Amino acid sequence: MSELHKFLFDGLPVRGMLVRLTEGWTEALRRRETAGAQPAEVRALLGEMAAAAVLMQANIKFNGALVLQIFGDGPVKLAVAEAQPDLSFRCTAKVVGEVPAGARLEALLNVHGNGRCAITLDPQERLPGRQPYQGVVPLHGDRREPLQQVSAVLEHYMLQSEQLDTRLVLAADDQVAAGLLIQRLPVQGAANLEAAERNEDLIGLSEGYNRIALLAGTLTREELLSLDAQTLLHRLFWEERLTRYEPLQPRFACRCSRERVRGMLLGLGRAESEGLIAERGLVEVGCDFCGLQYRFDAVDVGEMFTSAHRQQPGSSSVN
Ligand SMILES: [Zn+2]
Repeated sequence: MSELHKFLFDGLPVRGMLVRLTEGWTEALRRRETAGAQPAEVRALLGEMAAAAVLMQANIKFNGALVLQIFGDGPVKLAVAEAQPDLSFRCTAKVVGEVPAGARLEALLNVHGNGRCAITLDPQERLPGRQPYQGVVPLHGDRREPLQQVSAVLEHYMLQSEQLDTRLVLAADDQVAAGLLIQRLPVQGAANLEAAERNEDLIGLSEGYNRIALLAGTLTREELLSLDAQTLLHRLFWEERLTRYEPLQPRFACRCSRERVRGMLLGLGRAESEGLIAERGLVEVGCDFCGLQYRFDAVDVGEMFTSAHRQQPGSSSVN
């Protein structure tokens, strides 16, 4: 079963999380297949992004979707992973052209150095006119060196936007998408940095984080993919005292619905929609996340616009 484990390091301002997406991940892959098979490099990228989105969602107190998007200038134009507060997740990618074998982040999404990663917090109930929060980071480091891993991009983001030191290790194959997140917690009362630097206790605490981040960095891809949580945490942190919490259960779920597609067609307008019917006899809209096909025939479309007109004169939206 897919699991997310949260833990604290006793006596240190450090928290950790470990996620293993198993059947939720294989389901996400199977659903994507119906929309067209994607190369292994892209599947691995999406798995890492899905694991990261679930970790980042579990790491914040926020009632809304966390959406991780990478806009690419290589064969991958867009990769998206989204996680909800109940840790349900979904993901999709748009690939145009050949993906070189063994391609990593740069060759997939950052060929010309214009790739961008956007992290969006989209509240469940958005007030009218209010934009969701969005942070954007490039796919290169401070010295403009191209980054080869999603984890490095997100570590950069968390340091920049939240001033939180974070160590992130991600890996995915076709069976498992997994991730380990280690984060330094802000120390209370350390607002005055100079005083903090003089304080030996705080230096000790800082060394604690560094030690744990180093240990996390020794985790191999094989270990992350194959070991269960108990074995993995023991192998890495056997000298530390951990407080562990009840595991949570992430799962695959798509939020698409016939009602949403209907809203989209209403937004498109009567002439456009009827034009599609005239052309193909049917309007077919597929969900990029789960592969479901929604079909509307001439009767559906006719009914849609007359009833929408009756219910909401002058409006073309159902939202
Ligand atoms: Zn869907």
